Amino acid sequence: MTDTQTPVEPLPAPPAAAVPAVPQERRIVTAIPGPRSQELHARRTAVVSSGVSSVLPVYIERANGAVLVDVDGNHFLDFGAGIGVTTAGHTPARVVEAAVAQARDVLHTLFTITPYEEYVRVAELLAEHTPGDFAKKSVLVNSGAEAVENGVKIARKYTGRRAVAVLDHAYHGRTNLTMAMNYKAMPYATGFGPLAGDVYHAPSSYPYRDGLSGAEAAARTIGWLEKVVGATDLACLVVEPIQGEGGFMVPAEGFLPALQEWCTANGVVMIADEIQSGMARTGRYYASEHFGWVPDLVLSAKGIAAGLPLAAVTGRAEIMDASQPGGLGGTFGGNPVACAAAIAVFEAIDEEDLLAEGRRIEATLTAGLERLRAEHDVIGDIRGHGAMIAIELVQPGTAETTKAPNADAVGRIVSFAAERGVLFLSAGTWGNVLRFLPSLRMTDALIEDALGVLDEALAALA
Ligand SMILES: *Cc1c(COP(=O)(O)O)cnc(C)c1O
Repeated sequence: MTDTQTPVEPLPAPPAAAVPAVPQERRIVTAIPGPRSQELHARRTAVVSSGVSSVLPVYIERANGAVLVDVDGNHFLDFGAGIGVTTAGHTPARVVEAAVAQARDVLHTLFTITPYEEYVRVAELLAEHTPGDFAKKSVLVNSGAEAVENGVKIARKYTGRRAVAVLDHAYHGRTNLTMAMNYKAMPYATGFGPLAGDVYHAPSSYPYRDGLSGAEAAARTIGWLEKVVGATDLACLVVEPIQGEGGFMVPAEGFLPALQEWCTANGVVMIADEIQSGMARTGRYYASEHFGWVPDLVLSAKGIAAGLPLAAVTGRAEIMDASQPGGLGGTFGGNPVACAAAIAVFEAIDEEDLLAEGRRIEATLTAGLERLRAEHDVIGDIRGHGAMIAIELVQPGTAETTKAPNADAVGRIVSFAAERGVLFLSAGTWGNVLRFLPSLRMTDALIEDALGVLDEALAALA
């Protein structure tokens, strides 16, 4: 018989959450993909939906810092960081340790049944670090698209209005509402309709192609919204301060504050989709800061927890409190392990000065890309901030004239680099943008190494 007074044996102590170091170098030892990756790919093809694709089907076994190691022992310099997720590095020790410790304490309670401190702490950190000096509140969810959905719900409830506006070249997710908010139908919406209604696509600011000043672009956007939607029916305008999938477009100076001013004057909630650009990605906590933009609501996701699923809507307390109790939330939203990881990411950014690392990466990368532009006339534009930099590729000889997009060049560069151990990602409405969004642990030496591979890839195009 068990004596109920007897203390329960404690769980054995966990192994230390030591993260195996991975040499920070590129090293290719097989064909790409290698034999073990090819075996895994055959298994995957049998059981994983072909609606889920992969840029480079090498199967990853380990990752640390700025390097991915596949099952065949190939080491890749990672200039994608899971699309800007592992901003604080792959498997940063303090984040891994915080997550492991939290997993031993509590895996799940559901915050809407019995709450816990970690969720509250993440909301405090978000209130502190998002732009704007006013009372802010948050709701935590699981994914970027879910944050967008909640931002729209919250804005509709607060304003009592129906319409949602986004900008041309936007990307906001793959759920039903968000696929109607994206610019590109293919692959995100084609065949998946009917789409959500009352979503309007207004002109954006794309200095390389429209040549407009911020004031001119804002006047065009506002004029369009007033004519096509009407301010009195508009609940929110959702904008990426630097557009991600669209091709890292940096809006002209003054564009975003002018839109915010118009939104404020007209009772429209302006929402910054900082899912890709936020959390120290651009050398600031949030990219909005580069433009002097203080949004009403800010969406965080990708980089917030170094890979664990977590996302947030943060903003003005009066807007965030307009929803009825029980109207926001979800089973896994603000999971304790993901929250513990996020707290450690905020600590890493502050204590290891990761904002300065973003500025370092910008300086090294843009200087190197300028050198390459002098040699290769397919590079039409270089743009971005921090560790969110891109080049837009055009047909040879057209950079000064038609700027005809060159998606073929991007595809060839991505393959050429992958075979040599550098993982680059494409982007852009026309697929002609090569984007660099490495972890902030990417050293200058590794950037120079990757630029050398890019130089060879550009030379091989000719
Ligand atoms: C990735 C992304 C999303 C969607 O996030 P998920 O976590 O993939 O749902 C939304 N907006 C932007 C700007 C993104 O980059």
